[in-house]
Amino acid sequence: MAHCVVPEAEAILDREFKVLDKGFVRLVDYMGGDSRIVQAARVSYGEGTKSYREDAGLIDYLMRHEHTSPFEQVSLSFHIKLPIFVARQWIRHRTARVNEISGRYSIMKDEFYLPADADVAAQSEDNKQGRAEEPMDAAEAAKIKALLEKGQHAAYGDYSSLVEEGLARELARINLPLSLYTEWYWQIDLHNLFRFLSLRLDPHAQKEIRLYAQTMLEITRAVAPAATESFERNILHGVRFNGAEMVELKRRLGAAGVKAASVAAGAGKDGNATSENASGQSQEPLLKGKALERFEEKLRSGKQI
Ligand SMILES: Cc1cc2nc3c(=O)[nH]c(=O)nc-3n(C[C@H](O)[C@H](O)[C@H](O)COP(=O)(O)OP(=O)(O)OC[C@H]3O[C@@H](n4cnc5c(N)ncnc54)[C@H](O)[C@@H]3O)c2cc1C
Repeated sequence: MAHCVVPEAEAILDREFKVLDKGFVRLVDYMGGDSRIVQAARVSYGEGTKSYREDAGLIDYLMRHEHTSPFEQVSLSFHIKLPIFVARQWIRHRTARVNEISGRYSIMKDEFYLPADADVAAQSEDNKQGRAEEPMDAAEAAKIKALLEKGQHAAYGDYSSLVEEGLARELARINLPLSLYTEWYWQIDLHNLFRFLSLRLDPHAQKEIRLYAQTMLEITRAVAPAATESFERNILHGVRFNGAEMVELKRRLGAAGVKAASVAAGAGKDGNATSENASGQSQEPLLKGKALERFEEKLRSGKQI
């Protein structure tokens, strides 16, 4: 019942998992695992760990019912090396404890992110916040990367000269670009780590941060495999349906109780009017226009949109 040792996590402690061209994620330490979640949840009954199957079932129950506090009893500490533009997205997750290298104190290393050829793509036409799926052709990608590299060299050259001339490091660094690598220690509990992963594994997140999230998902699986599997099943690969969508889903499945469901869900109040005959059976689709498109897309892609 005391310190929780998870052999799979012990095996990867301190190992650097490479991400992007020069970054990494390293699990520095962890506290608890699946068994800690179970212990915490059962504390009120004074019952300890049971069989793996029963424990995994309890964890899944907790996940499904958003009984989140037992997951907060597990904590992971990472050492991460990442470009500053990724760090800026990452730091928005406020529930972690962070300690970052200081550019006021340390000389920043000459390390910048350069995307792989396959990741050099034009602005997406349908997603204002993203890039096209098809990469640019090799010649164009090489030209763009050379330009990025030139700017990085120039900025680092100026930085080095200013430091050598005796300018304070806190000022010498101010023209360094977002592609510069930084490092931090990042500690977070499992509940909030799952929140981070659900947002940053999503296809809407930038590819570079998604690659970090993917690596962290696998590290998390080593620490708490049953909780991670439950997170993937219920949250990552799950989709939420609103009240009107549920009514439409039941209508399509021919399930009983559509009328009761539509009343409970408040369908019809949001422009998605219900149409029923005397027996209470719906005659028309309950969703229209964009709302119907979103519903169809959820069914088709299995993604939250
Ligand atoms: C694909 C994508 C695109 C994005 N685009 C933009 C953008 O263009 N511009 C932009 O500014 N941001 C953007 N963000 C950042 C986004 O708005 C969130 O800030 C970020 O995802 C962190 O989410 P969070 O606040 O839920 O996480 P956390 O900070 O980890 O918080 C987790 C939960 O804890 C609670 N919480 C934590 N701290 C507080 C607090 N101080 N007060 C109240 N409740 C708190 C909230 O319920 C919150 O949901 C984007 C994020 C994603 C994933």
